Amino acid sequence: MAICKKCGIEKPLSDFSKNKNTKSGYHSECKVDVKAYQLVNKEYLKEYQKKYQATYRIENYDKLMGYDAEWRKNNRDKVKSYVAKSNAKNPQRMKDYMKAYNQRKKNKNDQ
Ligand SMILES: [Zn+2]
Repeated sequence: MAICKKCGIEKPLSDFSKNKNTKSGYHSECKVDVKAYQLVNKEYLKEYQKKYQATYRIENYDKLMGYDAEWRKNNRDKVKSYVAKSNAKNPQRMKDYMKAYNQRKKNKNDQ
């Protein structure tokens, strides 16, 4: 049994989702509360996920585009074919990537 942090009700562990990040190995909130939270924050979570994915792509942009000098040195052919393929497939997306990349660079310099 464990007491849910949110509703304060003591419930069997089967009513809690597992969570590797906590000491107990379970979420501190019961499944019902987690589900309620997800329902209420559905849009927010969706946006968050989208953002996270975009960030991941941008963060790996250096590598994908071969701006990582070390990686580029070892993967010259890969870089060339990747850039050529991407540009041909979706020029607008490459433009967006470049924009995001330059923005990120600018932010870095501002710091
Ligand atoms: Zn609860």
